[in-house]
Amino acid sequence: MQSLRVDLGSRSYPIHIGPGLIGDKDRFAPALAPGPVAIISDSNVAPLYLEALDKTLRSLGKTVLNIILPAGEGSKTLASIQEITGQLLSAGFGRDCSLCALGGGVIGDIAGFAAAAYQRGVAYLQVPTTLLAMVDSSVGGKTGVNHPLGKNMIGAFYQPRAVIADTDTLDTLPEREFRSGLSEVIKYGLISDQGFFSWLEDHMDAVMARDTAALMHIIERSCADKAEVVTRDEQEGGLRAILNLGHTFGHAIEAASGYGTFLHGEAVAIGIIMAADLSRRLDLIRESEQDRIYALMEGAGLPTLAPRLPVTEYLRFMQVDKKAQGGQVRFILLRGIGEAVITGDVPPAAVIQTLNAFME
Ligand code: NAD
Ligand code: MG
Repeated sequence: MQSLRVDLGSRSYPIHIGPGLIGDKDRFAPALAPGPVAIISDSNVAPLYLEALDKTLRSLGKTVLNIILPAGEGSKTLASIQEITGQLLSAGFGRDCSLCALGGGVIGDIAGFAAAAYQRGVAYLQVPTTLLAMVDSSVGGKTGVNHPLGKNMIGAFYQPRAVIADTDTLDTLPEREFRSGLSEVIKYGLISDQGFFSWLEDHMDAVMARDTAALMHIIERSCADKAEVVTRDEQEGGLRAILNLGHTFGHAIEAASGYGTFLHGEAVAIGIIMAADLSRRLDLIRESEQDRIYALMEGAGLPTLAPRLPVTEYLRFMQVDKKAQGGQVRFILLRGIGEAVITGDVPPAAVIQTLNAFME
């Protein structure tokens, strides 16, 4: 097992990474509040791992309530919060209870927000079961649900008491979901960790084979890199935006191609390839660096081209992103492998050239 700590003063918490951790009661005990526990999971994950977690919590003498939501982004609604809080109230759970999010980013975001809101805040633990959740959504304290008018529009910054990432759960993760998570992993190397990027170039075979040691390494590096950024900017005042490398293009690709065509990480992979191209056009990185980035995404089995659509379609969705950011399209660009820069100062012609260069 490997452990690291997210340093946020009184809101600090450990991240534990390794095989078999769902069965390791000593990881759970220190993070739980004194009262009962509710496990929140989804209809895919519950049949696989809920019984084991339930057993671990009961071995600690806990009363355990299981709440299972339908799998998928469609569950990220206020109705799910109503459902969860209703079950907690019916079971008589007080402020001394804990919630355990067992699942991917969808469950983590819902359970985290339910924990932030239930009786003005109760303890929660993240037990992520997708690669994306292990390296991204379970760390950093962003929680929330969607509104019909916008994704993640209702939520809170609310930190978990612990993140317990059992790498064995990745055995059952569908291949496409696994690769999609890898794109965020590669992102960390690009924005802040040149050594990690090189390590990924040398070890992609072991990663793709889901070798336990390789998985532990990529999760540990990703969490450490994300924790470093989050520690310096907990509520996204500025620096935290570098975590959005590839996301300006990526969001436009997700929206323009119709949500569901690409998984988020797939759209981000293409977005990162575009951000690298734009960085090279602006003379921030060399062509050889751009080539390495492209090769690593391709080697991870990720898509590298966006669907062929009129450029104006993509630009329109990038403008929507801009509105959300207070009037300026902000690009996260690279000044080398391992260094990101945030800039609003990008010539539109270069953006159009980049979009045209990476369409099918
Ligand atoms: P997800 O939670 O929908 O999981 C993907 C699919 O895999 C689901 O069908 C799920 O049931 C299934 N699954 C999960 N674990 C499995 C396992 N071990 N074996 C087999 N199947 C398994 O999606 P995700 O990609 O994990 O998360 C996406 C969500 O995360 C989005 O809603 C996004 O907004 C959110 N997110 C949040 C943050 C944050 O900082 N809070 C960051 C990034 C993404
Ligand atoms: Mg992302």
